[in-house]
Amino acid sequence: MQSIRKRSVGSTTSTTCSTPPPHDIYSVLLSEESRYKRKGYGLIFASLIWLSFMLISPIAIQNLWPPFMDLVKSQGWEKWQVYYYVSLAWHSLMIIITNLAMWAIYEIQLPFFERYKISTDPWPWVENKGEWMKMLKKSIALVSFNNFVSLPITIYAFLWLKNFQVDLQFGVENLPGSMTIMFTLAFCMICEDLTFHLIHRFLHWRVIYPYFHKVHHQYRTTIGIAAEYSHPIDFIIGSVIPGSVGAMILGDNMHFTTYLVWVMVRLGESLDGHSGYEFSWSPYRLIPFSTSASYHNFHHSHNIGNYSSFFSLWDTIFGQNKVFYQFMEKVKEAKEAHQKQQEEFNKKLNEKLSLEQRNEKLLKQD
Ligand SMILES: [Zn+2]
Ligand SMILES: [Zn+2]
Repeated sequence: MQSIRKRSVGSTTSTTCSTPPPHDIYSVLLSEESRYKRKGYGLIFASLIWLSFMLISPIAIQNLWPPFMDLVKSQGWEKWQVYYYVSLAWHSLMIIITNLAMWAIYEIQLPFFERYKISTDPWPWVENKGEWMKMLKKSIALVSFNNFVSLPITIYAFLWLKNFQVDLQFGVENLPGSMTIMFTLAFCMICEDLTFHLIHRFLHWRVIYPYFHKVHHQYRTTIGIAAEYSHPIDFIIGSVIPGSVGAMILGDNMHFTTYLVWVMVRLGESLDGHSGYEFSWSPYRLIPFSTSASYHNFHHSHNIGNYSSFFSLWDTIFGQNKVFYQFMEKVKEAKEAHQKQQEEFNKKLNEKLSLEQRNEKLLKQD
């Protein structure tokens, strides 16, 4: 299959660099500080989004879950049926809503959004519409297959293995509050991130890479729909399993509604990471040692390193993001050099103009 882009994002600068950046604790903390600083006012909006989410989620759960459970009781549905159908419907709904929202952003091309675009190359639909339409059809078909075939089969198989017993809580008397949701999400993030990192690296092993993960890497530059554009096996072992580890460990210490919130957060992070925009207000970037959209975009454009999802820690520990930081350093240096050149050019031009004006004045006086 053909890659959606032949050239990589930010490919104007080479990735090779002779001096790797330091990777001691001090430099990691320093890079963390500058990551927050770069967000500027975006940090305030990111905090407001996160706070609103944490306040609204328990209110929505308290208002929606009890009437839904009344319906479940009146219909005589079993726990596993609620888990199965609601999980699937929720997952598909999130994918459809988030992709439509992203599509609207790509379509309207507001300068407000476009200034956050990561790549300097045009969007694939601008660069080659014919090739893009083929890729879009393939993407919709594969994402739909994963959502409507791969995922239902996987969840059903999981339930069958567990004898249709679901450990999660479904009661209305112990609904989660903000703090429970926050700590549960943090735990699920840590579990997902480590599992995702290890499986993702395994999927990049050259012996098996061409059979599964190569499909996801057909997107050399990331856009929303690329998030779930994966070979079904890659989708199950590289996305579904890492996303389920936290809930499997917590079992009856986790409420099903918190699990739904987690699914929303996980899918949102994946879409944000593949959006092609580095939004300064992204609530995901508030997370300590978080990755970024540029971080995962680099993974697609250069197909090297940056294997983690939520946190950059495992990549740092295993030395898998050195090339990315070298690249960012080079981009920064190139930008600074360009700015300096521009300033020098403007200075010389101004000097030349004022000299000409002075000469003109002198000629007039003569
Ligand atoms: Zn990959
Ligand atoms: Zn990806």
